[in-house]
Amino acid sequence: MRLKAMGRVALASVLLAVGLAAGQRLAGQDAALNPALPLTHVDHGANSPAAQRQHYVVLVSLDGFRWDYAVRDKATHLLALGKQGVWAPDGMLPSYPSLTFPNHFTIVTGLYPEHHGLVANSFLDTARQERYGIADAKAVTDGSWYSGTPLWSLAESQGMRTACLLWPGSEAEIAGFRPTWYARFDGKTESTAAVQQARIDDAVALLKLPAAERPHLIAIYYSEPDHEGHMFGPDAAETRAAVAKMDGMVGKLKAALDATGLPIDLVVVSDHGMAHVEGGWVTLDQFADLKDFETAGALLYGKTEEDRARVYNQLKKASPEFVVYRLKNVPAQLNYNQNARAGDPVVIATGAYAIRAHGPAAGKTDQAPIAGMHGFDPQKVAEMKASFFAAGPDIVEGKTVAPFENVNLYAWLAHMLGLTPPKNDGSLNVLAGTLKDGGAEPGESLENKTK
Ligand SMILES: [Zn+2]
Repeated sequence: MRLKAMGRVALASVLLAVGLAAGQRLAGQDAALNPALPLTHVDHGANSPAAQRQHYVVLVSLDGFRWDYAVRDKATHLLALGKQGVWAPDGMLPSYPSLTFPNHFTIVTGLYPEHHGLVANSFLDTARQERYGIADAKAVTDGSWYSGTPLWSLAESQGMRTACLLWPGSEAEIAGFRPTWYARFDGKTESTAAVQQARIDDAVALLKLPAAERPHLIAIYYSEPDHEGHMFGPDAAETRAAVAKMDGMVGKLKAALDATGLPIDLVVVSDHGMAHVEGGWVTLDQFADLKDFETAGALLYGKTEEDRARVYNQLKKASPEFVVYRLKNVPAQLNYNQNARAGDPVVIATGAYAIRAHGPAAGKTDQAPIAGMHGFDPQKVAEMKASFFAAGPDIVEGKTVAPFENVNLYAWLAHMLGLTPPKNDGSLNVLAGTLKDGGAEPGESLENKTK
């Protein structure tokens, strides 16, 4: 049974409407949610007895929170979290392309974008002859666009309840499940003070449910400071103010989670960083005839092999601001040469350059690129690196980690929740040293594990 809940009142009336017998409880009916962020409830039953014995993980993403912002802007709450537990002072490596949806879905699946299918924020699937775009609610909520097993679906499939508060992809049914609780994304309201606070209130309300019902994984998404970084640039006063605001939000959340008294691992990450755009637009159709191509941003979809080869040759030595590859020849370290959704040929920026296939339509005036951008190769553009802070009962105290790829978070988070992850692109070994049990299976000797 699936209910669209608007908080206590709506749930109570639904309860009456379905005529549950006296004493029969509907899971989640007592959650005192903040009406500013209503949640949809999917009844998956109670946490299994094994799930009830596990700790809790609250995973927070701050969009575009560059790896060096916390130190630069003296983000006291984040730095305190890292000092209490672990953090990555030199940043965490996003997967290519360093864009929002691809990396949020990598964090929760352990798969590179070419494997989970979100190869960009907007792309064409030539086999389906359909487009995916993050502003297209129909596509975003359609599970058929996504591959892999997101952490919430993994948990639900193993008897553990979950909640997602605006995490990208969490409104779709993927790998057979939606989260037990999830929110509908509304771009008009999601960054208001009321809805930012409501994420904290809803998380706490869910954690106050009876043990059988409360979610053990809560994934929370905030769109700041990405927005300010784009509009004003990473070093602007507006961006620094957004960094301070989000640090304050983490501080409030941490205090609220501590007050529950539950054993909660709090993990705060970002999807990618932000760079000042260098120069003006680089427009690909000035170098190559793209008349027979479909495009999405700088992604190029040729209809015939002849067209693809021709445009590859035309772009090959066209500009020092990008390199071009046939799809199958994209360098292995980018993990971006297997999925046709990436197009063919594939254009990769050599720095923080704003690349597009076409300029504005005839008669429309062109506008300079936005101040800040991301999406670049994090090996070439260090400003793309993301943030990582975590502390809690499963995490060692006062340790730093060298930059690591974000595909490794999945096995690490699954381990903290006692879940067995499917095969993925990451490894528990990378972050095992940050875990109090060293990443050992229950009953497994730590000594054997570390040998
Ligand atoms: Zn962005």
